[in-house]
Amino acid sequence: MTSQAQESQRREQLARQLEGVRARIADACAAAGRRGDEVTLIAITKTFPASDVAHLAALGLGDFGENRDQEAAPKAAQCAALGLSLRWHFVGQLQANKAGSVARYAQVVHSVDRSRLVRALGSHAVTAGRQITCLIQVNLDEEAAAAAAAGDSGRGGAFPADVLALAAEIAAQDGLALGGVMAVAPLGEPPRPAFARLRQVAELVRSAYPGATMISAGMSGDMDDAIAEGATHVRVGTALLGGRPPFVR
Ligand SMILES: *Cc1c(COP(=O)(O)O)cnc(C)c1O
Repeated sequence: MTSQAQESQRREQLARQLEGVRARIADACAAAGRRGDEVTLIAITKTFPASDVAHLAALGLGDFGENRDQEAAPKAAQCAALGLSLRWHFVGQLQANKAGSVARYAQVVHSVDRSRLVRALGSHAVTAGRQITCLIQVNLDEEAAAAAAAGDSGRGGAFPADVLALAAEIAAQDGLALGGVMAVAPLGEPPRPAFARLRQVAELVRSAYPGATMISAGMSGDMDDAIAEGATHVRVGTALLGGRPPFVR
């Protein structure tokens, strides 16, 4: 088969999968009494090539996400070279020493969870002459929160009790805008109650910062529950693009 034929087959496959994901979002919105346009679909394209991004862009998607800078930076550059104008979302754990690279292509960083990252992203955004929307990643794991209170340092998100202080830092930082909150459902418990806790944190943040309306929650396996609990942005990889090698989260 020619590579052109392969690409057109891939485009058809992505079109079918996109239709399926859009239908799931529409059903979840209808079930929750929400309008379909209240939820933005972000295609998580990690491990997939820039050609897939181009197909999805041609099918009408404008929001794309990645979780590793080493992969995201060249992919964003390739897409820009193809003339695609996209919004890139950085959704993975971020080290402060990668903030300068991420600040060059990401419009939204979903994984802001500590002061050091706020300062690094802010200063690089100012240098790049850009404004980056930041979401506070919230750790919804109650056992981890208890361990942290007992002195064990947590990873992957700020605990709910620390979110408002971090929100104030982001709001005060040049180059950054506070967009709202993000979370990944903790393993080993049903996602819906966890997303309900996220919604409470989101409401607390929004009552202090009315512009911070974004709730990034829900992936291929749990986007329906997230939408039921108010998600405004779902991050979908597998259901849209297919399976990844198991070691890539
Ligand atoms: C990979 C990833 C997703 C997408 O996960 P799927 O289950 O493939 O839809 C969403 N959010 C984050 C933070 C991810 O790393």
